[in-house]
Amino acid sequence: MANHEPSKIGLGIRRGLRLRCPECRQGRLFGRFLKIAEPCESCGADNTRYPSDDAPPYLTIVIVGHVIVPLGVLSYETWVPSMWLNLGIWTLLASLMTLAMMPYVKGAVVGFAWATGVTRETARQ
Ligand SMILES: [Zn+2]
Repeated sequence: MANHEPSKIGLGIRRGLRLRCPECRQGRLFGRFLKIAEPCESCGADNTRYPSDDAPPYLTIVIVGHVIVPLGVLSYETWVPSMWLNLGIWTLLASLMTLAMMPYVKGAVVGFAWATGVTRETARQ
């Protein structure tokens, strides 16, 4: 197992959570929603070489599910709206929360890949 500096991993994740380039911290990580800017507007780094693939949606679903499902069950047990109203409200909130969180989670995954040195080329080996 490779020896990685924990501080560099934290640094990469923090920069990604701030939607900043993990290399320089100055440039924006995304050019558009979930589309990584190529190259970085500040340092010219190619951040598209860091794979994120299915990790951001997976992690976002895990986080959103752990927030929305208990709140949905709690509201259904205490507020007692109709099942369909409850389902509609929490499905809408889950969708909005997912869209809002996805760039930050993807940024964190790219920052983690930057810190650990995982690129699309090394991930295939
Ligand atoms: Zn940069």
